[in-house]
Amino acid sequence: MDHSGSDDRTRALDVAHLRATEFLATLDDRPVWPRASLDEMLQAFGGPLREEGLDPALVVEEIASRADPGLVAIPGGRFFGFVIGGTHPAALAADWLVSAWDQNSGSASLTPTTVAMERVAGQWMLDLFGLPDSSSVGFVTGGQMANFTCLATARSAVLARAGWDLTEQGLRGSPAVRFVVGADRHGSIDRAARFLGFGTNELIVVDSDDQGRMRPGALRKTLDETSGPLIVCLQAGEVHTGAFDDFASLIPIAHEHGAWVHIDGAFGLWAAASPSLQRLTTGVELADSWATDAHKTLNVPYDCGMAIVRDPADSIAAFRTGGDYLVYTSLDPWDVTPELSRRARGVPAWAAMRSLGRRGIARLIDRLHENAVSMASGLASIDGIRVLNEVDYTQVMFCLDSDEATRALGEAVLAEGTAALTGAAWRGRAALRCSMSSWATTSDDVARTVTAIRGLVADQTPAAS
Ligand SMILES: *Cc1c(COP(=O)(O)O)cnc(C)c1O
Repeated sequence: MDHSGSDDRTRALDVAHLRATEFLATLDDRPVWPRASLDEMLQAFGGPLREEGLDPALVVEEIASRADPGLVAIPGGRFFGFVIGGTHPAALAADWLVSAWDQNSGSASLTPTTVAMERVAGQWMLDLFGLPDSSSVGFVTGGQMANFTCLATARSAVLARAGWDLTEQGLRGSPAVRFVVGADRHGSIDRAARFLGFGTNELIVVDSDDQGRMRPGALRKTLDETSGPLIVCLQAGEVHTGAFDDFASLIPIAHEHGAWVHIDGAFGLWAAASPSLQRLTTGVELADSWATDAHKTLNVPYDCGMAIVRDPADSIAAFRTGGDYLVYTSLDPWDVTPELSRRARGVPAWAAMRSLGRRGIARLIDRLHENAVSMASGLASIDGIRVLNEVDYTQVMFCLDSDEATRALGEAVLAEGTAALTGAAWRGRAALRCSMSSWATTSDDVARTVTAIRGLVADQTPAAS
């Protein structure tokens, strides 16, 4: 028998392929929520590290045979928790190639294939979103890092305009930057601000309306009352309601006051790629930076966020590093994000867009919206359920009469297994959220979910009354 390394590799990959396709084939029938706890999975994979190694194919076989009870059916059609996409077939398969190729994609001169694919993927996105085609697109791990990357660029740029060179002078003693956010911003904005040296108490919070949209009058008032370098963070797609800030009103107000405007569009920016939903993002192109995720709405595997900056010179000012052994060409990937070595995470995005085409991407987003609308009307038809938001995009939020009943329903849904959705607090009340984010969700999945929830609410009612 041949024990050469390349044969081991082929056998290991064959096992991974077989076991991956077997897992994917179970998605329609398996309970969506995992059946095993973290402790049980720690037992399954734990124990001391063996002294001797094992055959690679055997290791992959072990992983697949132990993993199953603790896996969540996220790539299936009835996972509606958080805001999480599925995996489009072309993106999944391309992601396997990325690992096999093992290209360190920080440098244009080292890895031309993957850097070219990412640059083209970035251009396609700018085109889909209607953003300036000269913007820099940095591929990062996700929305959190995209927000951080854009806001680090913003901080350096607004300080530069105030005559302060952050790279040379550092943050201590710099002019105070006003960091303005909406009341219903995503938590990753606060965390990005924290990494950048802004504490939560230093954030200037602008009031929002009942759907979580920043109020333009409140923004103007806040900006009129303060002065100094300014960053204003807006949002495309609030995680509970799916609401979009009114960019066409807000951005001109912020710019009148000299702001850098950043938009967190982790899942919402994709509305711009649908002719029928584009109206939600009107004015988005006026901003200075945009954060978005391909692993949400575009349905590529995890590890694919994009930090988009209008003027690449601002990105370079914030991120280009020294190091005489690094070779520079124009706009290397490592010039626009905090990372040096990294996987070619933009390749699956190229593959998904190539496979779907412009029309397929629009249809995908329209279908997420249509599924959300039909989920909302199905849920609203259940006695006792109240839908709490205007379903303009992909999010549906609902509750029962009491917080206790709402929370109990959330637990019952996960235990029953047909679908998974997650809880939240909205305006002081418990709520459940249903996020339509997967290409795999069909109208049958929506119907099955509504039927399951109808049954659970009926089961709950006699106990509650
Ligand atoms: C998901 C999300 C983020 C964070 O993105 P990750 O990819 O999870 O890091 C930020 N903002 C919004 C609005 C989101 O929905």
